[in-house]
Amino acid sequence: ERERLSRLRHTPCVTIDGEKIELLANIELPADGAGAIAAGAVGVGLFRTEFLFMGRSGKLPDEEEQYLAYREAVDAMQGLPVTIRTLDIGADKPLDRARKDDSLNPALGLRAIRWSLADPAMFRTQVRAVLRAAAHGRVSMMFPMLVNAEEIRQTLAHVRLAQTELDDRGAVYGAVRLGAMIEVPAAALTVRMFLRHFDFLSIGTNDLIQYTLAIDRADEAVADLYDPMHPAVLCLIAGVIAESRAQGKSVSVCGEMAGDLGLTRLLLGLGLRTFSMHPAQILAVKQEVLRADTRKLRLWAQQVLEGGECAGFRVAQPSDSLYKI
Ligand code: PEP
Ligand code: MG
Repeated sequence: ERERLSRLRHTPCVTIDGEKIELLANIELPADGAGAIAAGAVGVGLFRTEFLFMGRSGKLPDEEEQYLAYREAVDAMQGLPVTIRTLDIGADKPLDRARKDDSLNPALGLRAIRWSLADPAMFRTQVRAVLRAAAHGRVSMMFPMLVNAEEIRQTLAHVRLAQTELDDRGAVYGAVRLGAMIEVPAAALTVRMFLRHFDFLSIGTNDLIQYTLAIDRADEAVADLYDPMHPAVLCLIAGVIAESRAQGKSVSVCGEMAGDLGLTRLLLGLGLRTFSMHPAQILAVKQEVLRADTRKLRLWAQQVLEGGECAGFRVAQPSDSLYKI
């Protein structure tokens, strides 16, 4: 089976009805780039940079060390696009596993972009390193777990300031596309605000499921309730995809759902055209894509959504009365 799949490595990823599908890789270390290429990925959709920062007893990598690491990943991808996500520390990804996080509710606490915005010097060091790496390839930068307008404003202000800092130093850096992860229901429900400020979106379904269903993704005791097919989750994903496409902006899924063979057809039906997953899943997902007809899947996905009975999903009709008297 593995040998048969490996023959798909160079096969263009196109559905029966001619829709081009992009399969990207999630990586955690620059050296993972080689595996992504070997698996036939057409880029990196999620570079989880926190692994450069974890387990170093508090001493964070400086700008130069980060720049070299990001550049190594960019070089490894041989001209293919690389999406670098800024730090997602906290909750399931503690900086130091040895030191206990004593916040009451780490998943709802100071993590991801909140952690970065709370330490602007650290955040801009990372942003500058990414901008410098962008001089060597096609780089996008995206931010985890944004929720509100103020966080968006601060994040973009830090990017501009980091550019100014590099200009003042005469440092070489490249252009980046800026993206937001959609991984909290609040972000999914206000997706238009995100589309107004960012070039692309990526749906982090691991966290989106956790926060939509109130199921701690790391808690074994409730693991059976962690359900990617819950209608509320599907409606949020559908809305983000539909709105992004309507505005001509690229949208991907980079959570585990993207590499789940049982969900490929449904995601295609919801309109997803860019998937980012563990490299080991890419060829098997490609096989599903090659067998898929998105025209049929769209109608089926529509039925699945309607069967979920999400409030607000139905399009309002002129005959709907506003008030029940
Ligand atoms: C996600 O939440 O789906 C995601 C891709 O990010 P992470 O798993 O790193 O939190
Ligand atoms: Mg996440």
